[in-house]
Amino acid sequence: MTNHVTETNQSKQNFAVEDVSLFINGEFVDSVSKKTFANLSPFSNETINLVAEGDKEDINVAVESAKTAFETIWKTMKISERMVYINRIADLIDEEAEEIARLEAIDTGLPISQTKKQAARAAMNFRFYAKMVESTLHGEAYQVDDEFINYTIYKPLGVVGLITPWNAPFMLETWKVAPALATGNTVVLKPAELSPLTANKLAEVIQKAGLPKGVFNIVHGFGETAGDALVRHPDVEAISFTGETTTGSTIIKNAADTLKKTSMELGGKSPLIVFEDADLDRALDAAVWGIFSFNGERCTSNSRVFLHKNIKEKFVAALKERVKNIVVGDPMDKATELGPLIETAHYNKVKKYIEIAGEEGCDVFQGDVPAAFSAGNYVPPTLLLNATNDMKVCQEEIFGPVMAVIEFETEEEVIKVANDVKYGLAGFVWTNDIKRGHRVAQAVEAGMIWINSQNTRDLRIPFGGTKASGIGREGGHYAIFEFYTEPKVIHVAISDHHIPQFGKKK
Ligand code: NAD
Repeated sequence: MTNHVTETNQSKQNFAVEDVSLFINGEFVDSVSKKTFANLSPFSNETINLVAEGDKEDINVAVESAKTAFETIWKTMKISERMVYINRIADLIDEEAEEIARLEAIDTGLPISQTKKQAARAAMNFRFYAKMVESTLHGEAYQVDDEFINYTIYKPLGVVGLITPWNAPFMLETWKVAPALATGNTVVLKPAELSPLTANKLAEVIQKAGLPKGVFNIVHGFGETAGDALVRHPDVEAISFTGETTTGSTIIKNAADTLKKTSMELGGKSPLIVFEDADLDRALDAAVWGIFSFNGERCTSNSRVFLHKNIKEKFVAALKERVKNIVVGDPMDKATELGPLIETAHYNKVKKYIEIAGEEGCDVFQGDVPAAFSAGNYVPPTLLLNATNDMKVCQEEIFGPVMAVIEFETEEEVIKVANDVKYGLAGFVWTNDIKRGHRVAQAVEAGMIWINSQNTRDLRIPFGGTKASGIGREGGHYAIFEFYTEPKVIHVAISDHHIPQFGKKK
């Protein structure tokens, strides 16, 4: 059986994409140096458009305008007024959802059916945080006998720097921008250089929503230059970062000199464990979707699948059938399930891991990539069968459509090996034994575990990882109380309490 070949060919289409500028102080502008870089299509490796290359000077201008906007307007604006803007952004994202999905698919190679869902979720991020800030962002009051009332208020930080990756650009950008703005901060966003298109769509939306100038700014450019300048800028109070673990560690070091608050959402190598009593059909759907959706470029993907030895053979046979039938195609085709990887360097990295898997003793089983797509960065859906957890391919994040399959026999054994990895982002447990489900979920070292569930997202829950997968949490009140605001306590005496009288003559 071969993969279904999709009919359309993106390279024959006009990309119809404008060049990308920076967005500073409410205007689309060139970079100070006027330098640009080419943005390449994952589908054909042709140039889609040119992107303004920001650097330290551009970051300085953007931070200055964000600081002025914070001081002069945004931090003191009435919450109800601020939320009108936030809700307007959500409405405008909905209006632009088709175009956002199209640009995202062109830019990242993610199938359009998946980018459409991401655009809808991005609008929800703004609505959710508008509601959350209005209804829950309040402090506490503590009465101390009849002497004091102490109360807390939550203040925005000031200018925050947001640094985002390319794997789900628009959704992840809004996941940070929405709480940052809703809580009263102003923003400088540095989007991933490999996926700049939809960030500027967000800037257009924000401009149309009439946000005061300087509240939201974008500086495109590379991590080591523009990103680094943002991290080191003394007027940036905090950095919220999503990306690779090694980059996160560099950013924490570089943010230390200016004592910045940082939030880190990093890499993963998440286990999916299938016990013999599980609903195997549903576990199969979840395991296949969890690694092959998003082209395998998903931080919470189940890249290690542990199968109980009694069901392994049957499950692997079903996995092979699915892998052969996955629709590998043009991201713009709505039937496509798996598209090309973001760039050639990443494609080479993923291919190299598959080669290493063979050398390490895995039985590599793959679907096919139709010949029509040879110009793109396509890696076929891949199973690394008979893997063992100590292999390099089970220890390192591959970030592609590659699932390692590992056999286990006992609960104790699978918990031990599932935890024998440096990452701790997500985990999935499939069993119909309710006690075991909870037991294993509690024992697997990860920030988020799903029992008998695919990777669904509730915006209220703390999102993030432990170990090398992150520090801090995003989502719900974790974002607004623990990251984007700071508690301030005010002590009020309501009677004449004792004050020691140093130096007073007795
Ligand atoms: P990356 O770390 O290469 O880049 C992320 C961003 O950091 C980009 O904007 C880049 O320009 C910038 N950057 C790079 N070096 C920098 C530096 N020295 N200073 C400041 N900024 C710098 O990550 P990526 O390849 O774009 O994304 C893929 C990674 O993201 C994977 O590891 C994936 O697991 C992770 N991820 C994690 C989550 C999560 O929530 N935990 C979500 C999505 C992706």
